[in-house]
Amino acid sequence: MSESLKFLLPYNNKLKKRSTEDVELLVIHCTELPNIKTAREYGEKIHYQSGTGNSGHYYVSKQGDSYQWVENNRIAHHVKDHNNNSVGIELDNLGRYPNWHKTNAQVMHDEYPPTQINSLIELITKLQKQLPNLKYITGHEDLDTRLIPSENNPEIFIRRKMDPGKLFPWAQVMKKITLINIGTLGKKL
Ligand SMILES: [Zn+2]
Repeated sequence: MSESLKFLLPYNNKLKKRSTEDVELLVIHCTELPNIKTAREYGEKIHYQSGTGNSGHYYVSKQGDSYQWVENNRIAHHVKDHNNNSVGIELDNLGRYPNWHKTNAQVMHDEYPPTQINSLIELITKLQKQLPNLKYITGHEDLDTRLIPSENNPEIFIRRKMDPGKLFPWAQVMKKITLINIGTLGKKL
């Protein structure tokens, strides 16, 4: 099994520490950006007084390379209200890029290639061995269902978060792992 390449964010050590026993949940995201390099630039941006920013713990490229940006025993900012007990996995995918919050860009068109999904399944399997209390999995869109006014027409409200979106193959992934899917979108499949 291939290992995730460790490529920790410069502020990794400033993120709040926790026990790996606190982790119960995996949250699947997509970057909604053109590539991992751009995602890294976004991830390195400082947003908080603690000198930290927003990122997942792991990133999986379309080519199937996986990288660890934050250690499992650090709390990353990747999902509102659920950071303390979760690990975030970001998939390289355009999503709604670059018109995230415009009304005409609210369909996810970018497919997840099999190489990327296989690498994600490997990563999840590895995490199940490393994190003794890991039990659940869901998508970001199931945990953050807030609506916001669209940029081009404030009278029309759109989803703030849609990742990983309808093209993410939940059924295929759930067949290969033993976590419980607590997301409504995943359960429907
Ligand atoms: Zn997300």
